[in-house]
Amino acid sequence: MSDPSTPVAWGIQLSKLWLASGQSFPVRVKDIALEITRTKFADPIGCVIPHGIAGIDGMLSKRQKKNDWCISYDENVTVPGRINFTIAHELGHYLLHRKLRDAFQCGQVQMMEYDSPESRRIESQANTFASYLLMPRNDFEVQVTGHELSFELLGHCADRYQTSLTATALKWLEFTAEAAMLVVADHDEFICWSYCSEAARRIGAYISPGEVVPASVLEYVRSNALNVRESRRVAPGVWHATEEAIESVIVSDQFEQNIFLIRFPLALVVDHAEEPESDAFTVFAENGHGLNWKK
Ligand SMILES: [Zn+2]
Repeated sequence: MSDPSTPVAWGIQLSKLWLASGQSFPVRVKDIALEITRTKFADPIGCVIPHGIAGIDGMLSKRQKKNDWCISYDENVTVPGRINFTIAHELGHYLLHRKLRDAFQCGQVQMMEYDSPESRRIESQANTFASYLLMPRNDFEVQVTGHELSFELLGHCADRYQTSLTATALKWLEFTAEAAMLVVADHDEFICWSYCSEAARRIGAYISPGEVVPASVLEYVRSNALNVRESRRVAPGVWHATEEAIESVIVSDQFEQNIFLIRFPLALVVDHAEEPESDAFTVFAENGHGLNWKK
């Protein structure tokens, strides 16, 4: 069987291999990286180790003398699940991009100059690979089907897959038939970025970076800081001109951000057979692996 050529196909294949070998979630990427590449390639991954360099989440580098590759990661990153995602991201570079370069340094977007379309493309591909490896869609659907979506449920999935809450939320938005979006804003009320499910996009729910959080929402968050994870109904005209929304928010003091999960329960959801081309992990690449979670 020939090797896959796309990030999605590689992610699905390795994920299936992991489960077929009798393992369960979370996928232990380090084991996969070492084992699979050793049996498959002449220039395998020889080590997966912490590197202690702040600001660089992960690196993939060729070791000329040994003719192998080393994945290293910042072991001091405190966002749960992010290290696992970072190692998967570097494995993605190895499988998809190692013919292009001898070294990859990955981290927060401001520092990494992911300006060129080419850099953004390969970063996005590595994230897509990681998401398919760690969070297989069929298993994810089993976890959420029959439950009302909430940060708590997403948190359960993030624990299961050992991924960050944001990466997990993006994965859900990628496949859900619900109209929903994730909005990340700084504590000064400005929107950093938002990402919509396909159904939310069709009702025009997107909010551009730099726009401000609706004033009534901000006031609510500031006066209820401790229990805003609880969802609440928000009238039309707040998050969407004509749609009522269900809003919940996580206030991250560590990163000085508010993360909103907005669902539009009454939006007409039209089933359509064709699966849309997803760009969930393009937004991920464009905003850094931690998704703009500044240190
Ligand atoms: Zn990268």
